[in-house]
Amino acid sequence: MGPTPIPIIDEPVPGRPEADAPAKRPVLSASADEWRQWMVERGHPAYRARQVLDGVIRRRATAFETISDLPKALRRQLDDDWSVFGTRAAFHDVAPDGTDKLLVECRDGRRIECVLMAEGPRRTVCISTQVGCAMGCVFCASGLKGVERNLGSDEIIEQVLHLRNLLPPEETVTHIVVMGMGESLANLDNLIIALDRICSPMEGLGISQRRVTISTVGLPSRIVRLAEMDRQYHLAVSLHAPTEELRNELVPVNESVGLSAVMKAADAYFERTGRQITYEYVMLKGINDRPTDASALARLLSGRRSHVNLIPYNPVPGLPYGRPEPEDVGRFVATLRDRGISATVRKTKGRAIDAACGQLRRRVPTAVG
Ligand code: SAH
Repeated sequence: MGPTPIPIIDEPVPGRPEADAPAKRPVLSASADEWRQWMVERGHPAYRARQVLDGVIRRRATAFETISDLPKALRRQLDDDWSVFGTRAAFHDVAPDGTDKLLVECRDGRRIECVLMAEGPRRTVCISTQVGCAMGCVFCASGLKGVERNLGSDEIIEQVLHLRNLLPPEETVTHIVVMGMGESLANLDNLIIALDRICSPMEGLGISQRRVTISTVGLPSRIVRLAEMDRQYHLAVSLHAPTEELRNELVPVNESVGLSAVMKAADAYFERTGRQITYEYVMLKGINDRPTDASALARLLSGRRSHVNLIPYNPVPGLPYGRPEPEDVGRFVATLRDRGISATVRKTKGRAIDAACGQLRRRVPTAVG
């Protein structure tokens, strides 16, 4: 990789263009307070707001008509001003292992990906935060065309709801991982609005914050800001390399942030929240899967209470990176454990449907560029 500076860290990424704002607002683009206000202004009791949000978030309504505790006239009035969802599930695929992948189309025609995975009693959704990504990690499909825009908090929540609506009525989403397209912390404000809302026991699905993992390339100032928000979200830092030099090659944004600042911010997150950090490490054959890399990683993490999640690379067509040999993965994880570092190898789910990392969006023709 050339030393192109990546000045995107604190540069605003465009949000949804106002010009795209349609006449009918999506239900989740308004807060509970705005909903109450809307009801009261039209002469309805404020509690109707709760019934609308409950209908969509908890009771799986996809049309106002089906929210039967609302008076008929109100349902018609809602139809005039609001749409239940702003996004729609444009493409659904199911892998042989049962993993569901949705390609979700936004109002402006842009498409994002999200995935539902079942394992034992867990129902985990993996969601996106941006259209594209600006971080430019050399092995990743999501960033190949850069970032187009941040998702709104409603577009983030709607991914969870579209996936939840695929589940039978007796099941619901139990875990959320923010590991889809985009750099999560580059869209921190909208992400936290969305997660707080979906986790809320009052308004949302009542998912414990501790069952939500936010994955980040490692933007130190944003990690510290998230820590100061005093939530209980689990943080996963995409490390991918144990040294400054190798990380600069694989994760170009590292050139401007620096590995030691990432580690310092992660330590601060742990100190403030008490939540142990997970370090993600995508293993690329012959590049960062060598015994020397394992030793260097063990050194870097020694003395830190943390967990390493090793992710055997999911090859992206057109990119020159390969999946590591199983023996090398085995050796790597053994080296870490021998040095007292907690580590596991992630099972790859949904490979047959490209259920990873910006790959489905590339296969399906897109409406916009
Ligand atoms: N931007 C955030 C979250 C999105 S990516 C981040 O960097 O963490 C979620 C994880 O998937 C990251 O660790 C990322 O490096 C990894 N990933 C990306 N492409 C991959 C691929 N082709 N195979 C395996 N993991 C990949």
